[in-house]
Amino acid sequence: MSERREMERFQNAVERWSEARGRDGKRAFTIPLTGASRDPHFLELDRISMADWLDARGFTTPFLRWYVEYGTRDDFGAVLSETSAWAGLHYFAARSMETAQLEGSRYLVWPEGNGWLVKGLRSRLRARWRHHALALRVVPMGSRVAVDYLDVDRDELRRIEADGVVLATPGFVTKRLTKGLGDVAPLPDRTTSPWVVANVHVERDYEPNRAWDSMIYDSPSLGYVDAGHQGGAPKRRTVLTHFRAYGDPDVAGTRAMLLGHGWAVHAGAVLDDMRTAHPEIVEQCRRVDVMIWGHAMPRPRPGFLGADPMGSAPMIAERVAWAHVDQTGYALFEEATDRGVRAAEALGKSLGLAMGDSYLGPVT
Ligand SMILES: Cc1cc2nc3c(=O)[nH]c(=O)nc-3n(C[C@H](O)[C@H](O)[C@H](O)COP(=O)(O)OP(=O)(O)OC[C@H]3O[C@@H](n4cnc5c(N)ncnc54)[C@H](O)[C@@H]3O)c2cc1C
Repeated sequence: MSERREMERFQNAVERWSEARGRDGKRAFTIPLTGASRDPHFLELDRISMADWLDARGFTTPFLRWYVEYGTRDDFGAVLSETSAWAGLHYFAARSMETAQLEGSRYLVWPEGNGWLVKGLRSRLRARWRHHALALRVVPMGSRVAVDYLDVDRDELRRIEADGVVLATPGFVTKRLTKGLGDVAPLPDRTTSPWVVANVHVERDYEPNRAWDSMIYDSPSLGYVDAGHQGGAPKRRTVLTHFRAYGDPDVAGTRAMLLGHGWAVHAGAVLDDMRTAHPEIVEQCRRVDVMIWGHAMPRPRPGFLGADPMGSAPMIAERVAWAHVDQTGYALFEEATDRGVRAAEALGKSLGLAMGDSYLGPVT
């Protein structure tokens, strides 16, 4: 009973935060972050962890703590003590799902994850596309700029010259790429959370009532999604994508530990976890593919908003723009899109191109 009361108390607090507006008239939490209020009263939340915030308000029951931490592990790959209270509350209060625009809409999912979006973007891209290309450094060339890269297929070093460049790379990579440039804006330091994602191929009787997204209470994992869930005709074979974020403070140690384990250890851990809910999973399993994402996403630790809350300017050097969620420290697709559009528009303007109205509407 006390668990239920705590959940209600938490939901009420979240509702108040969803509606809260700062002295600047802006909502406390928005997606993307740039629209959010800079009211110091709200920004103070970034000084403490989500664990401290819950403790201070007497939120102690195991179910409530698990529920809230599921959110911080899911979006930030971080346990409660590793998550800024600003970010923890943002997770619950920023998504206004009951708006007029969303009336009647449903979730849409697709099996390939971001791969589907990449395919869609690629099909509209008129520019030339080079893949298997590992950028190595950005080189200033007077009124031009060059990017040296490794053509992985040919194992050859190559160069592209351009009027300007958008680096859509993580912060720690961007720092390396721009080392040779003279005057580069300081980039934020981000702690990155490791993840392990496994695709479990199963063959089993079709059951129409199975969910797309399933989580296992009190498990260290984030559960799994059925990648074939909206795939049309019922099939006996599907792929269950299992997620686990490693949210503890020692990210480097965790990365080393994960890399030190072979496929059998990772696959065994995944199946053990799923067995809690599906004792028959091993018999149904045909194959397990495991991917270790060492730097899966920036972790919004206390203080992550920094001196320039909600994101830095996109131009980081002459003719060089940066577009990545590491700018705001918040790993969401909408955030990535926002940063990408801002970077492209800022670079275009700096090169004297007529950019017209911003794709983002009135720029905030
Ligand atoms: C397992 C997982 C699940 C997620 N689920 C969701 C979700 O459900 N909803 C959501 O909104 N967000 C989700 N996210 C977060 C989301 O995927 C990221 O926030 C988003 O992809 C960030 O986009 P980005 O363009 O900023 O950076 P990234 O996607 O990190 O892109 C950076 C790119 O740079 C490339 N790169 C790095 N170094 C080099 C180099 N030297 N040369 C060339 N290329 C280089 C990388 O290969 C990568 O493609 C998830 C993340 C993970 C890891």
